[in-house]
Amino acid sequence: ELPIIHVITPTYKRMNQIPEMTRVANTLKNVKALHWIVVEEGNQTLPEVKQLLTKSGIDFTYLSARPYKNLNTSLKGIHQRNKAIFWLRKNVDLSKDGVVYFADDDNTYDLELFEEMRYTKKVSVWPVGFVSRRQYQTPILKNGKVVKFNAWNTENRKFPIDMAGFALNTKMFYFNPQLYFWKTFRVGYQETMFLEICCLLRDLEPKGNGCTKVLVWHTKARDPVIEHSSYNITMQASNNQ
Ligand code: UDP
Ligand code: MN
Repeated sequence: ELPIIHVITPTYKRMNQIPEMTRVANTLKNVKALHWIVVEEGNQTLPEVKQLLTKSGIDFTYLSARPYKNLNTSLKGIHQRNKAIFWLRKNVDLSKDGVVYFADDDNTYDLELFEEMRYTKKVSVWPVGFVSRRQYQTPILKNGKVVKFNAWNTENRKFPIDMAGFALNTKMFYFNPQLYFWKTFRVGYQETMFLEICCLLRDLEPKGNGCTKVLVWHTKARDPVIEHSSYNITMQASNNQ
């Protein structure tokens, strides 16, 4: 029986939402034993997203979460990730082996990545392409263990890792009740402050052929500029304009 991978994806309404979510769905539907937790920003879930998820055939949970009041909006996605974490704490036996991965809706994922993270004992790590003006950001190994990082701001961050660059065993949440995204986290320090709650450098398990392979890219799509609207054709999910 494969450990289940719980993929947590914050999303929000914009022109690219349905195209991006379609891309991620087309990737995730190829992964066995996967549960996709999608958390919409705001008061409610959206019918066009629900329809996309249902159509994909993926085992999913679709929730919504309001942004926290008086919080720096640059801490993108934290209320949604927390909503998913609290959902897992309530609905899943986290004392059994499973995996949690935070996958934004705009990144690009190689299918190999999911099999790399499947047998995570504590925290798996790997390189991420196109992060903070670098071709990639990666842990650096010595004798098979992570000793440092090639990344932005290694001086001040204990774990200079992108959100897409790590996955945790569900037991980490079971053993660490404080493991979630605190409102007091600093912008740019979300990942490091989150990982500092639960692990040490020596706990990191390097994946992707000793962190030599980029299997996920921090891609971004620009919203299209629409100069001509058409009223005479019916597009699927046309309400995402
Ligand atoms: N996001 C969101 N609300 C926003 C901006 C972003 O829910 O106002 C989500 C977005 O869909 C993505 C994640 O938060 O899954 C990270 O956002 P983004 O990709 O814009 O951040 P960046 O890659 O620029 O750090
Ligand atoms: Mn992004």
